[in-house]
Amino acid sequence: ALAMAVSACGSSVKTVDQEASGPAAAAPAGTLVGVTMPTKSSERWIHDGDNVKSALEKLGYQVDLQYAENDIPTQVNQIENQITKGAKLLIVASIDGTAITTQLQQAADKKIPVIAYDRLIRNSPNVDYYATFDNYKVGVQQATSLLVGLGLKKQDGSDGDAKGPFNIEIFAGSPDDNNATFFYNGAMDTLKPYIDKGTLVVKSGESDFKTVAILRWDPATAQKRMEDLITKTYSGGTKVHGVLSPYDGLSIGILSALKSSGYGTADQPYPVVTGQDAEAASVKSIIAGEQYATIYKDTRELAAVTVKMADAVLKGGTPEVNNTKDYDNGTKVVPSNLLEPVIVYKDNYKKVLIDSGYYTEDQLK
Ligand code: BGC
Repeated sequence: ALAMAVSACGSSVKTVDQEASGPAAAAPAGTLVGVTMPTKSSERWIHDGDNVKSALEKLGYQVDLQYAENDIPTQVNQIENQITKGAKLLIVASIDGTAITTQLQQAADKKIPVIAYDRLIRNSPNVDYYATFDNYKVGVQQATSLLVGLGLKKQDGSDGDAKGPFNIEIFAGSPDDNNATFFYNGAMDTLKPYIDKGTLVVKSGESDFKTVAILRWDPATAQKRMEDLITKTYSGGTKVHGVLSPYDGLSIGILSALKSSGYGTADQPYPVVTGQDAEAASVKSIIAGEQYATIYKDTRELAAVTVKMADAVLKGGTPEVNNTKDYDNGTKVVPSNLLEPVIVYKDNYKKVLIDSGYYTEDQLK
């Protein structure tokens, strides 16, 4: 009886909530939403920003969309400005997931809800929701594409015919981006059995996260590290067979270091290089047989899910989430909505990227 009373009480509270915030409580037209994105230097964030903005505008919101060129103080100022300008909700794709605690406290003091976009904001209780892709799975898929490229696995998941051993090198994303650890963990958990057996050999010996992480996801830093690895580890005829790269921009830097050292010819083909984001330049590289694979994350879907969340919150409702356990930001577990990433290879890019309307054939020429 007690349980019933409690649940009855719970549901009646909900009803009151819903009544108070039903259609009549629609957010007034022109309500300002602040959207902050990390940088325009990567194509994906441009798509994200455009998609979020237009979907919000379609619902009648006014949008302040800002990019910070990966500069933390710039992003901090942008968020402060949005609060001052009277934003009623903030959507934040952070640069450093720990650097905006003060601003989020200012938002909370004014009862401005915050949605973390793609990247979790850490060490703050003032993050209400999180919309992203299954980041651990992205890492698993990156490692899987590496195994497929080396012939150790087939695309259907069965074992491949190759035996190895293969020399590989590992790269990870920016240490201040919470996603980077998820990608790395997903990938390393997948590669570990092969490394333990000696089928895969991290020839440089550099594999712990801190050593292989590339600050701010900077392609030039990745290029430099690959050049250094080639000099240090691969002089004297030893070849690198695979490179785990967590982001297309880094893959471009890595491939260019490899090219300068003589890879990319009939005699000495490129190693298997992975990626993420299905950026046009990298998909072209896959089509040309240079980069091996990438991970497609449909930014249209992410924008749609986020805007749906924002709209629900602004109308006093409760947004849909599908994960309430995996994204602990150091202060609380943030209710999350996770989307599914997809591996893109040369033989499925048409189906995955063109048939879905993400790119036109011309954009990949
Ligand atoms: C995103 C990736 C992206 C990377 C670099 C990560 O937080 O989840 O999609 O490749 O940042 O921009």
